[in-house]
Amino acid sequence: MNDVLKVSSLKRSFKQGGAVIDVLRGVDLTVGEGEIVALLGPSGSGKSTMLQAVGLLEGGFEGQIRIAGEEAVQLDDAGRTRLRREALGFVYQFHHLLPDFDAVENVVLPQLIHGAAPRAARDRAESLLSALGLGHRLTHKPSQLSGGEQQRVAVARALANRPALVLADEPTGNLDERTADVVLAEFLALVRGEGSSALVATHNERLAAKMDRIVRLHDGRLAEAVIPDSVR
Ligand code: ADP
Ligand code: MG
Repeated sequence: MNDVLKVSSLKRSFKQGGAVIDVLRGVDLTVGEGEIVALLGPSGSGKSTMLQAVGLLEGGFEGQIRIAGEEAVQLDDAGRTRLRREALGFVYQFHHLLPDFDAVENVVLPQLIHGAAPRAARDRAESLLSALGLGHRLTHKPSQLSGGEQQRVAVARALANRPALVLADEPTGNLDERTADVVLAEFLALVRGEGSSALVATHNERLAAKMDRIVRLHDGRLAEAVIPDSVR
């Protein structure tokens, strides 16, 4: 089986004041092709730290990170940027959309940066946004969209370049519970439909239970977790 992500012995410490805190103390994780894995843990457990390392957004860690068959740690800055663009998509708690661009343009832009033809990029953006129920919001700017709609645009943007792996950090954390449920379900359906994989950080057991597999971050290490039916 092809692994989209293989993390081995990942360690990350931070200096805080005079002390050193070991946030990740040797994390191992594999995400298979087409698999959606929940990274569960309370606030402060190191979920964002882990996603930043896997997203090749931050240095300062020890360990191995293999993404789509490439050993990322051995790449130089340019190589990491290329691998990030080719293989990864990102969704954050706050949408980070470009305020002066409309919904379609926000999804077109990363494709143009990736070298797509403008017409094809536009078609893909419209089809992703329509799949997320935003067919009637294509030319709305972020400020003209609801929070749930903004996150849907961010989801479409993350999938625009057909990433092998989507990294999502509390992707519905800024939404009310009902909207969060709907947007998460749409996000998961789209990732599955596109044949992508995802690693989704959340502190919410109920949301984690909707994914294929759950790993829990505790004391700087990861363990497989099972969510009781009563939480679902
Ligand atoms: P989570 O996303 O699970 O809430 P984080 O990864 O954001 O957790 O943070 C884990 C721990 O690492 C926290 O104790 C946080 O204060 C610390 N931390 C995160 N980033 C930094 C940083 N840049 N400098 C110092 N400490 C940090
Ligand atoms: Mg976080």
